Amino acid sequence: MMTFEELRELDSRYVVQSYGRNPIAIDHGHGSTLYGVDGREYIDFASGIGVLSVGTAHPKWAAAVAEQADRLGHVSNLYYSQPYIRLAESLCTRSGMAAAFFGNSGAEGNEGLIKLARKYSWEKYGEGRGTVITLDRSFHGRTITTLAATGQDVFHKYFFPFTEGFRRAAPDLDSIRQAAGHDVCAVLVELVQGEGGVLPLERGFVQDLAKLCSDRDWLLLVDEVQTGIGRTGSLFCFQQYGIQPDAVSFAKGVAGGLPMGGLLVNERCRKVFGPGDHASTFGGNPVSAAAACAVLDILDDETIGKVEEKGRYLRGAIEAMDLPCLGKTRGMGLMIGVEVAEGSSNKELCAALNQGGLLSLTAGPGLRFLPPLTITKEEMDKGLAIMETVLSRSKGAHHG
Ligand SMILES: *Cc1c(COP(=O)(O)O)cnc(C)c1O
Repeated sequence: MMTFEELRELDSRYVVQSYGRNPIAIDHGHGSTLYGVDGREYIDFASGIGVLSVGTAHPKWAAAVAEQADRLGHVSNLYYSQPYIRLAESLCTRSGMAAAFFGNSGAEGNEGLIKLARKYSWEKYGEGRGTVITLDRSFHGRTITTLAATGQDVFHKYFFPFTEGFRRAAPDLDSIRQAAGHDVCAVLVELVQGEGGVLPLERGFVQDLAKLCSDRDWLLLVDEVQTGIGRTGSLFCFQQYGIQPDAVSFAKGVAGGLPMGGLLVNERCRKVFGPGDHASTFGGNPVSAAAACAVLDILDDETIGKVEEKGRYLRGAIEAMDLPCLGKTRGMGLMIGVEVAEGSSNKELCAALNQGGLLSLTAGPGLRFLPPLTITKEEMDKGLAIMETVLSRSKGAHHG
């Protein structure tokens, strides 16, 4: 096996250096425990980036992937096959949505939402109603269109011209009303903004927004790429907000590590896409879909029911450490944001945690933890112990 140094050397020579990688090479793992190429143990509070919803190498997931790979690894969308159909049925039944479309990533799911809203509106009202309102601090992906939709200026550089037809608003009804116009067809939101800093939208605002959308015949589009598949304590986060979106995107956690994304539509949007309107060569891939069916079997109501409690346990323990470098915690379920005190850098703290054996993430100006939903109490406690040791050594805010 190659050593970390050999891997780093080859990576720098042959791979486009578009990622700021941690100096760690992961080899294998079980559940929420991973092992480096040097045999070192890491506790996983990141799940990739919210992807490993059932942890690493879950036996049911691994068996489903192996069996499907052995039977049928690909078939085009010009034919029927069982895995994507079972998956669509399961997602719709458990979410109350009407129908699914499958692609490969979060950005592709969101592109689908935007195309859906524009076609819905075109068919009803004709040209000139293609604008989608998105929120400050949102993140919707890395394609030219989803970057344009992303409500953070740092993403709007170099790649001009961006796609037209996006207008930004603050997460309050007045700001949305100001952004409104006769050209609007939809509002796209993350209910808990992930990359922006783990910022849950206010329940009252979301319910008012749903009403405004229905009054104006705008589609309410929810980006559940990060919040979906149990992450916040229900299969989809919208189920806790008391709203019924017109369409929802999903990706990260859905196939437990294999590439898959897509969208769910409600009854009124079921017929918007007809043959030829939207497609994806790899969409609904049998191996990814079989993996996703296994993920949904593992994440039954009882397992998802424990997510809220696990999140509360972690947040309580982090706050009880009372570390000078950290501030308040926030989030929903196992999507946890932690404020970083003035004078400390979230990037430095995150790097120290990773080096200390706890895989962690940043979001906005804070830290972010997205452990596998199947994480055990023992693994949580190991991770918390690492956090306390590493961060009580780190230079915190020394003022007051
Ligand atoms: C990660 C993420 C995306 C982009 O997903 P990709 O699979 O990287 O394209 C979009 N929206 C949200 C909310 C995300 O967290």
